[in-house]
Amino acid sequence: MSTASTAQATSTSPPDTEAAPIRVGVSACLLGEQVRFDSGHKRDRFVADVLADYFELIPVCPEVAIGLGTPRPPIRLVGDPDSPRAVGTRDAGKDVTTDLADYGRTMARRLEGISGYILKSKSPSCGMERVKVYTDTGHPAGSGTGIYAAEIMRANPMLPVEEEGRLNDPVLRENFIGRLYAYHRWQCLMAEGITPEALVDFHTRHKLILMSHSPERLRELGRLVARAGSEPVEPLAEAYGEAFMATLRHRATRRRHTNVLQHLMGYLKGHLDGDDKAELLELIEDYRIGRVPLIVPVTLIKHHFRRHPEPYIDRQLYLHWQPAGLSLWNHI
Ligand code: SF4
Repeated sequence: MSTASTAQATSTSPPDTEAAPIRVGVSACLLGEQVRFDSGHKRDRFVADVLADYFELIPVCPEVAIGLGTPRPPIRLVGDPDSPRAVGTRDAGKDVTTDLADYGRTMARRLEGISGYILKSKSPSCGMERVKVYTDTGHPAGSGTGIYAAEIMRANPMLPVEEEGRLNDPVLRENFIGRLYAYHRWQCLMAEGITPEALVDFHTRHKLILMSHSPERLRELGRLVARAGSEPVEPLAEAYGEAFMATLRHRATRRRHTNVLQHLMGYLKGHLDGDDKAELLELIEDYRIGRVPLIVPVTLIKHHFRRHPEPYIDRQLYLHWQPAGLSLWNHI
């Protein structure tokens, strides 16, 4: 899928069908654009070569956008780590905090249709977390968030946001990409016009995904959605959407995936003979103890459901949400 250039990163509308491209904001230097202070880039192969095939990536360089140019003197964060300023490393009188924050708020409005954001780590503008903050005299003062990134995240706490380095971790990668797809589906649901029936159906399709992240929060979301039909649906959907995306931020652990696999097996019990049951149980156990990746028992379960279809499982996104080419479950 193509990427837009930084200069064209103007605006996006929310997607209205699940077939619409999934748009993701990206720090432009990660795509190889030579926008860094030293006129270089920080091209990330996974983002630029792999994710670009699945998502419409929208590159943005906030420092170039506010007119700092390339090459330019570097900036850094100084002051209170919870509310730092971005100033010139050599010329502390050059304070670009307000410009970066204003631009972040502007882009948060223009990019309201994106389903996620991939940020360059450690940057005083783009860093999501743990960016070095200094005292006025240049000593370490702690860590904080880049000025532009903070505004993007503040404007939409539901937006999936991740840094390029963390995407090398298979669990964080699967979590982030899962949230991208889930948020895209949520945006489409809201764009179509929410109804009590649509909200219940959305929840039903995501039950096993939610179970893999947090069975407790799945129950809370179930109680929330049970009020659909007896309460105004818009505020209920707003509360549901926030809780839904917060639940997906919980890591889906091996123990919770095992729980989902056993739950799925329960729907097959009446169809499998003794040998098939033993084989599936053994693979689930191999996964639980880390001997095989998740894709192994999932592939066998999908095979059995193809032979013995179950309407409820057919509607569950857990087995079907991810494109095979990304191989996300081959590594967790
Ligand atoms: S980290 Fe952000 S501000 Fe810095 S070069 Fe990359 S896109 Fe531009």
